[in-house]
Amino acid sequence: MADTRDIYDVTIIGGGPVGLFAAFYAGMRGMRTKIVDSLDELGGQLIAVYPEKYIYDVAGFPKILAKDYVAGAVEQGLSTGAVTALGEEVRALERFEDERLFRLVTNKAEHWTRTVIICAGVGAFEPKRLTAPGVAEFEGRGVHYFVRGLDQFRDKDVVIVGGGDSAVDWALTLEPMARSVTVIHRSKFRAHEKSVRDLEASSVKLHYPFYEVLEVRGNHHLEEVHFHHTRTGERHVIPAQEMIIAIGFSGRLGPLAEWGLEIERNSIVVDPITMETNIPGVFGAGDIVTYPAKFKLIATGVAEAVSAVNHAMVYIDPSARLDPGHSTNIMEKKARAAAAAASAEE
Ligand SMILES: Cc1cc2nc3c(=O)[nH]c(=O)nc-3n(C[C@H](O)[C@H](O)[C@H](O)COP(=O)(O)OP(=O)(O)OC[C@H]3O[C@@H](n4cnc5c(N)ncnc54)[C@H](O)[C@@H]3O)c2cc1C
Repeated sequence: MADTRDIYDVTIIGGGPVGLFAAFYAGMRGMRTKIVDSLDELGGQLIAVYPEKYIYDVAGFPKILAKDYVAGAVEQGLSTGAVTALGEEVRALERFEDERLFRLVTNKAEHWTRTVIICAGVGAFEPKRLTAPGVAEFEGRGVHYFVRGLDQFRDKDVVIVGGGDSAVDWALTLEPMARSVTVIHRSKFRAHEKSVRDLEASSVKLHYPFYEVLEVRGNHHLEEVHFHHTRTGERHVIPAQEMIIAIGFSGRLGPLAEWGLEIERNSIVVDPITMETNIPGVFGAGDIVTYPAKFKLIATGVAEAVSAVNHAMVYIDPSARLDPGHSTNIMEKKARAAAAAASAEE
């Protein structure tokens, strides 16, 4: 009986910045490539969580909005032939050792592939919630964990809770457009040093360390934020029509936890040289993986994607070159091969 399975060389689970770069690179290496993502849109956390936030630490862009970065990443990611299956959560991974194949089962379909690169970010991610009275009540009515558009903050009094990169970047992004921006944080800032210096030099009002939100109040919409100094007990009340809570995210591996992968603290353990997991033929890159001294950044994730793709290539064809050289060499070689094929057909 004919084999009706449509087998790809590599299937990438997750179409965030890392999965997109993996797709571009795999296509450049001539691999038949598919991206599967549970969301309906490509871009991962950048689109789902912070499309309007500036990113300052990706190579080549001194400052770029996350949604603009994603537009480029999608164009590049799909430029070498990758296909996408969106709105599909991968629920099961089955390995057929004899055939050196994998079957990925989603909520909608099954996908056959020779290798898998898991770029699933933090899995299903949830913002950490602030439990102070009133906060849950005003979620969606002034209280935000996700920010989809900036216009709602124009000429408003905005309070930002938190002291990591996200909180600091939001404060710097909103300062020029909001009426006032106040940051409330209970500890020292954990953001990049330059961002903290910019924040301290800005007009943003800073209450840290040892400041915590006590409660929020309003009628139909948020109106004021009450907070205090946790050591002295000194209380403050400030007007606020909008509040962004950026105190971190917690990841949940979800179905990935059941696939026999070695897991350490909600992340998949990989060999830092090959990016291979404990399952041969299954690789990982980006926020989902861990190894000693791992940094959860776009810049490091895309570098991991290159290693994962190159090693996946050699896994499929041990005679393939691990290091294909620069993109110019590869693209020129591909163009020459295409031209030769075209003239042979004539
Ligand atoms: C608020 C905030 C600000 C940040 N700012 C910066 C910054 O300025 N600079 C920087 O370098 N980094 C920043 N980061 C971190 C950066 O966003 C991550 O490092 C990056 O998104 C990781 O990319 P990724 O492709 O590995 O994962 P993600 O972007 O998380 O994408 C993973 C994708 O996998 C999909 N997925 C998960 N599980 C499944 C499944 N079972 N089936 C199908 N699809 C699945 C998800 O839907 C998602 O689309 C920030 C993060 C946050 C939360």
